Amino acid sequence: MHALSGPGRNLLGVHARLWAPDWSPASAEFAISASAAAGYDFIEIPVDDSADLALTSRLLGEHALGVVVSLALGREDDINSVDPDTTARGERRLRDAVQFARELGARYIGGVTFGAMTKYHQLPSPEARDNSLTILGRVATVAQDYGISLGVEYVNRYESNLLNTAAQTLAYVTDLGAPNVLIHMDTFHAAMEEVSLPAAVADAGGMLGYIHASENHRGLLGSGSTPWPEFFDALVRADYRGPLTFESFSPAVVGEEMVIEIGGWRSLWTDPVATALAANQFLRHHLDTAHTRNQSLASPTP
Ligand code: MN
Repeated sequence: MHALSGPGRNLLGVHARLWAPDWSPASAEFAISASAAAGYDFIEIPVDDSADLALTSRLLGEHALGVVVSLALGREDDINSVDPDTTARGERRLRDAVQFARELGARYIGGVTFGAMTKYHQLPSPEARDNSLTILGRVATVAQDYGISLGVEYVNRYESNLLNTAAQTLAYVTDLGAPNVLIHMDTFHAAMEEVSLPAAVADAGGMLGYIHASENHRGLLGSGSTPWPEFFDALVRADYRGPLTFESFSPAVVGEEMVIEIGGWRSLWTDPVATALAANQFLRHHLDTAHTRNQSLASPTP
């Protein structure tokens, strides 16, 4: 069972890059205080060697905010590779992420943990997939000792040649076979690749452990073409008890490097405070109405 899952309402989180391009002390202070003020239960912080962990822990405590961490491997440290030096760098980075999470008291590491987040210029290969499974399996064993779960965030075809759908990801985590490895679904990627979001939720089944709620264009929730009511109905029907994290990035906040990495060329919003607040209300409202809708379907008036 996921450390952030349980009875009661789903926990809501927000990605740190909504607030700031880095994790400087000033960014940490703003991101943590603003996440708490906007009503979130936790913040997702990308693994960052330069982060002041003592300051971060103190701020999280002061604002009673939970934390999870994430990362995306790149071309240089891709474990979905047949080059031993490249996969070794990836394993080192994943093991460092476990230490980073441990020092912050985070119980979840998500993101593109199974390979590089990049446009691949080669076909997927069984040998590369085997390397990914072997290495992530070893890292999962270490994480398990600290009560940390690992998420496998499948992404679209332009960002991975290995995992683009929930069905592929289910096969991957089943082959991996570790009790603390879960499917991490991002609606932005899923909307692009899946037959439908409800079908993706059904495919992931009980292995679905973490969700990035992101519009089809990565902007304000509800301002795009994502069929949110259908998606939330599917989550309620699947009895999904895990967290949902709002993920949206704007060139008004993130740096040039990240704009290029994710192709987030256009500014879809400029005020992170208003954006985070609206997203929190949006997610809570949709979860509540989906619960009401599905309760009334389950027990019709005689
Ligand atoms: Mn994501």
